[in-house]
Amino acid sequence: MSRPRIVVVGAGFGGIHTLRHLERRIPRGMADIALVAPHDYMLYSPLLPQVASGLLTPQSVAVSVHRLTRDTRLVPGHAVGIDTRDRTVVVRRSSGELTPCPYDRLVLAPGGLTRSFDIPGLSEHAYGAKTLAEAVLLRDHVLAQLELANDSRDPIEREERCRFIVVGGGYTGVETAASLLRLTEEAARRYPELRSAIHWHLVDIAPAVLPELGERLGRKALDMLRGMGIEVKLKVSVREVGPDKVVLTDGRVLPCRTLIWTAGVAPSPLMRTLDKPTQRGRLEVGADLRVPGLGDVFALGDAVAAPDLAAGTDCYCPPTAQYASRQAVTVADNVVASILGRPLKEFRHRDMGLVVDLSGREALARVLRFDLSGLPALAATRGYHLAAVPSAPARARIVANWAIRALTGGEVSRLGFADDGRPSSFVDKEAVDYLDAEGSRKEGARLMENLRARYGD
Ligand SMILES: Cc1cc2nc3c(=O)[nH]c(=O)nc-3n(C[C@H](O)[C@H](O)[C@H](O)COP(=O)(O)OP(=O)(O)OC[C@H]3O[C@@H](n4cnc5c(N)ncnc54)[C@H](O)[C@@H]3O)c2cc1C
Repeated sequence: MSRPRIVVVGAGFGGIHTLRHLERRIPRGMADIALVAPHDYMLYSPLLPQVASGLLTPQSVAVSVHRLTRDTRLVPGHAVGIDTRDRTVVVRRSSGELTPCPYDRLVLAPGGLTRSFDIPGLSEHAYGAKTLAEAVLLRDHVLAQLELANDSRDPIEREERCRFIVVGGGYTGVETAASLLRLTEEAARRYPELRSAIHWHLVDIAPAVLPELGERLGRKALDMLRGMGIEVKLKVSVREVGPDKVVLTDGRVLPCRTLIWTAGVAPSPLMRTLDKPTQRGRLEVGADLRVPGLGDVFALGDAVAAPDLAAGTDCYCPPTAQYASRQAVTVADNVVASILGRPLKEFRHRDMGLVVDLSGREALARVLRFDLSGLPALAATRGYHLAAVPSAPARARIVANWAIRALTGGEVSRLGFADDGRPSSFVDKEAVDYLDAEGSRKEGARLMENLRARYGD
């Protein structure tokens, strides 16, 4: 292979760290490296709740791909199908047309989407908290509810607009509820009449929140959330969602216009287009992170079920940034080894723990096997995020934002993203049309044929 074409799909933790390691291992110009991604930034999603609450600006967590890579060509768009026979990724550009992206080695890291369930009204009315657009919209929507409630004399409308329900007791749900509660507290200083009307609920079907933190710290998290004023309801889920109400599975009907759905991540539908075995939608890969039967395709991150060798047999790696970033090192090494015809290595990583930031005032952390709370947890949480953000300018922006907030207090002006008054569900924000395996083959072959007719081989 003279100048191998390496294509990476997805500019998240898995994709960007793979590119950075590839660029370190391959001398400049010796490979044609392309990144297929809908945006030219890597989203540092663990800090998204702080964007939703306005503590951080959106730019602080959107780290430019051009800063993070030096020898990578960006193909802007979504990969919507893969023709593995002709080694072509079918890309839908943001302008709508399809374009081919040929590869010799392919790395798939498209992450996941907010997991939807067959609950009436959910896909029309529930807000997501997974993308940058959703976080910004959520902040505007929440602030708009308070503005409208304050302006209304109708007690029923006031109650609906001042009640906020977050579903999901994992780190996304817990951090989002705590951060947005702080935002509404700050906004309520302007609307003293609303103070006693604002209610936050956190709902989860599980018997505990944050199970990853273990029993003791999980209980502590529950106490902290309740202490902040969040009504936590466990062993309960949502039966139905309407424009102005939420019905819980215990029969309770809550007047409400804001349901934030964080109950799980569904792997990217791109993985299904390969027609290979999956585990609940996550593409199965070997311990070397290669797709079985496809020697030139590697996959990592939230979209794959990769064996967790450090945890024992029959265990899969958890869908976290920590694992996606570590898998990227193995994938980059194995891509290079497969090109050079060398043996591949297996992925093995021991979980380092979890940090949970409850609105910047409280935090909990499990680092290795040590449980932290209070100031040490806050320091560990902030230190961890600063170390994990992969660019010095982004780090500086985050520290500056935290400092400005500490010195000047919160800013509660809306930016106007929720002004059309229409609900904008996570389905509107995250859904993309994918091809099936047969469609990918046909489109891949057709697009490559067009390309060859225009430019030759
Ligand atoms: C609010 C929140 C808080 C979190 N907190 C933590 C935490 O504290 N610790 C932790 O370890 N993990 C945390 N996570 C989880 C962590 O963010 C994910 O596990 C991690 O991002 C997975 O990395 P990934 O590369 O698989 O996917 P992602 O980082 O999601 O990246 C996927 C990329 O692929 C792109 N993409 C999607 N579809 C396509 C397509 N068809 N074609 C091309 N590109 C595509 C996306 O735009 C994105 O750039 C959190 C997640 C959220 C949402």
